[in-house]
Amino acid sequence: MQPNQKGIRPVTPQYDPWDAWMTRAATGKYELTSVEFTVTNLCNLRCEHCAVGETLVEREGLPISVDQLIRRLDEVETLKTLSITGGEPILNPRVVKETIRPLLKYCRERGIYTQLNSNLTLPLSRYEDWIEDLDVLHISYNYRDAEDFYRIAFQKAKKDVDFKTAETLFNRLKENARQLSAQGVFISAESLLSPFTSRHIVKMHQDIAEMGCKRHEVHPLYPSDFARGMELLTLDQYRETVHRLLDGHHPEVWILFGTLPFYPCSDKAEDRELWQRLHREPNVTVRQDPDGRNRLNVNAFTGDVIVTDFGDVPALGNIKTDRLDDIFQQWLEHPLAKKTHCFCLKAKCAGPNLLVAHAYYADWDFSKRRAKIEIQ
Ligand code: SF4
Repeated sequence: MQPNQKGIRPVTPQYDPWDAWMTRAATGKYELTSVEFTVTNLCNLRCEHCAVGETLVEREGLPISVDQLIRRLDEVETLKTLSITGGEPILNPRVVKETIRPLLKYCRERGIYTQLNSNLTLPLSRYEDWIEDLDVLHISYNYRDAEDFYRIAFQKAKKDVDFKTAETLFNRLKENARQLSAQGVFISAESLLSPFTSRHIVKMHQDIAEMGCKRHEVHPLYPSDFARGMELLTLDQYRETVHRLLDGHHPEVWILFGTLPFYPCSDKAEDRELWQRLHREPNVTVRQDPDGRNRLNVNAFTGDVIVTDFGDVPALGNIKTDRLDDIFQQWLEHPLAKKTHCFCLKAKCAGPNLLVAHAYYADWDFSKRRAKIEIQ
């Protein structure tokens, strides 16, 4: 593999290397272009919406050596992006030193784009000695103020946490975002649309703009793990929320609608119109779910490889014994993959996320549907 970091194309609305649609449109097939490593199950928060909440632990053992992880990445010729997630990946300095830094360096040298998911509540110094090798710092933002943060971020905590502690973390999150943005770090702040965040999404969007974040990612609440019992928006509420956010869009912030629960094959004219509006608006993109389309998730402790880091599909293989390419090919033949891997080129759609399809369209067979509109 040749180092090529100089002159690498920046991540923009016109070029999002995580977007599975691009590869599918260019090559006619899904390829493994993205790998996600779960590098820790430790986290200092216990958010009510956490889609991996039930896997969080108080202590954990030693992960698989980073050399072994890198050997498997080396085998993936089509690799374009790497994501690092947890838990809170930077909570344990040893994970940062022994896993995260070497992975980021490897990707830098190979020209692979990187993303790390952090809650950004740790002291700023903890982000400073590796951040220059990262392309996208992904954070969560589902709050108006410290009260919301206290209620949401410690909803599932087993121990009592006082408000003052939560307020300190919330203020630090915001200040860290401002400081890192000012240093040129690309921060993508994600909001999960729920009945609560829907009401306040424009205020959250303005806060995200004020913190200097380059991108606001908006996703549905994934009904998994801690979030399994939470109330979901109806599709009518979701559609209204998207329009309201577009009306209040800060022009300098890129809004990325991920795993959107509306498709160009919809029987409803208002859903198809929304799809068209989203593709007309400047600095707005729609991205289908990478999980299972161009990405596999690897647990850095067990080596298990799954389609998503919070899905209910059992492990498809293990990196101690299997190549990632082989596991991905095996997944493409899985009945669940076939059920949701529809593709409508002219409508710029690559089908639904598994959890979203299950939550909103349990009676649809996507493999039999076709888009009713085209995107110019
Ligand atoms: S059939 Fe699939 S790819 Fe085509 S518009 Fe519907 S969801 Fe999108």
